[in-house]
Amino acid sequence: MSAQSPTPAGGPVVEGPFDPEHDPTAAYALEPEYADALTRRLVATSGRSVQVRSPLNDAPLGHVPQSTVADVATAFERARRAQVAWGRTPLAERSAILLRLHDLVLDHQDEIIDLIVWESGKARKHAFDEPLHVALTARYYARTAKRHLGTERKLGVVPGLTRVEVNHNPVGVVGIISPWNYPFNLALIDGIAALMAGNGVVAKPDSQTMLSALLGARLLEQAGLPRDLWQVVAGPGAEIGGAIVERADYVCFTGSTATGRAIAKGCADRLIGCSLELGGKNPLLVLRDADLEKAAEGAVRASFSNAGQLCVSMERIFVADQLYDRFVDRFVARTQALTLGATLDWGNDMGPLISQAQLDTVTAHVDDAVAKGARVLVGGRARPDLGPYFFEPTILEGVSPDMTCFGKETFGPVVSLYRFHDEADAVARANAGEYGLNASVYSQDGARARTIARHLRCGTVNVNEAFAATFASIDAPMGGMRESGAGRRQGAMGVRRFTETQAVATQRLIRFAPQYGMSDQMYARVMNANLRLMKKVGRA
Ligand code: NAD
Repeated sequence: MSAQSPTPAGGPVVEGPFDPEHDPTAAYALEPEYADALTRRLVATSGRSVQVRSPLNDAPLGHVPQSTVADVATAFERARRAQVAWGRTPLAERSAILLRLHDLVLDHQDEIIDLIVWESGKARKHAFDEPLHVALTARYYARTAKRHLGTERKLGVVPGLTRVEVNHNPVGVVGIISPWNYPFNLALIDGIAALMAGNGVVAKPDSQTMLSALLGARLLEQAGLPRDLWQVVAGPGAEIGGAIVERADYVCFTGSTATGRAIAKGCADRLIGCSLELGGKNPLLVLRDADLEKAAEGAVRASFSNAGQLCVSMERIFVADQLYDRFVDRFVARTQALTLGATLDWGNDMGPLISQAQLDTVTAHVDDAVAKGARVLVGGRARPDLGPYFFEPTILEGVSPDMTCFGKETFGPVVSLYRFHDEADAVARANAGEYGLNASVYSQDGARARTIARHLRCGTVNVNEAFAATFASIDAPMGGMRESGAGRRQGAMGVRRFTETQAVATQRLIRFAPQYGMSDQMYARVMNANLRLMKKVGRA
């Protein structure tokens, strides 16, 4: 083995071939053959590989070969060739593959969850959400394919004589760039919609969680997907991300707002579409008529699921004056009762953060707030005794605009509490800042909560739930307003973004020009009369 140097993925880069079975220093958490079988699916010829280590206990998980820009080009060529036949495959056949994927994901759930926990460190109950959501997405798009992608009839300009159809043709090959926080789910859900729409996919999952994404690719192939249709490349976004944007027919990005902005610029230059699912600083509102127990229980899940490393999790909670103290007592007590652990079993409420970088950001946000006068009601410190990247679930009070965590996304288990007197003020404060991803409103009056929801400038609003109600309702669009993104995943928008919409009009009997010896002036009169008639009979 030759020289090693640190990488963003946490482990060292190995120059030249790597032989995990004969590495005397490694105690692998996964069978080396298991990881190898997954990474063989990568298009990666650089000769370099990155060692990935588990945030649970820092044990090495495997070596991920790295792709070059030329590998990205190869991946696109292969996917493009495979897409030609796939684009002509009937919707029913594509649906059948997705329904098989649904079953395979449920059958392999334990294997999937184990791998997610090893790679991301999250608690098993939060890893469980990933295969669940992938299965839901596969079933939804399989069952709605005809509704969203079938040829539609539209009104023709001349009733009975102009027949208009709209086709939703595949764009070609979609580039999917995904982050580490939901490594199985976010590597697959957008791609499932892209495949359903008849596209090929080149996926670039985050370097830290490549194995979970590769397990998804294997399950797709087992479900019957033509192998070359779904390509996976590995490497730092800054090195190979540009090559994806340069070749894709559409880019689907999930990650930070800063990277999303750079990707949108690249797509604008090529005049291709993109969807951007970005960060948030999500608000939860507890109205004065909220059910206190439900709100406190929901606030815990809202703030600390996946250790807060969740784009739709809550980092700001606004509570009505009348019940502020009672809510805080309950919220603090429930948070203190959370169990932290670095194991694969179901017992833990929260696992570690994924990396030293995440721990540094979370620590810096809390230290900055405390130094400037914020109060820690619970948590507030790292727990190296439990594992390398643990940080306690933390509730802050007295957070003010001069503190970093007031407006910047922490992306960790840190939430700030604010008191409000009137609801209009709470809505204005919830809407402050540049993000607009997800919000939550707790109230026993559903109609009132939904009215407030319309005033919140967020792409999703959950009433009496944190995020799961919208996120799991795949028929509804999901995405961000303002700097939280552009475009929507899920629902009709989530699949039609991967299509080129084409209108085909067939004209019969008459043409759009004077005929039967008519003058231009007479033709204009007939057309005007026709317009007046159509309005009179109520035509759109
Ligand atoms: P990131 O933007 O650093 O990385 C995300 C992905 O982009 C990774 O695969 C990375 O390799 C790649 N990338 C990085 N630089 C690139 C470049 N120049 N060109 C192309 N690709 C590049 O994001 P992160 O910090 O790892 O992820 C956390 C962020 O993701 C948070 O802000 C979170 O809110 C957001 N997120 C949003 C959603 C959503 O659905 N809205 C879901 C999950 C995470």
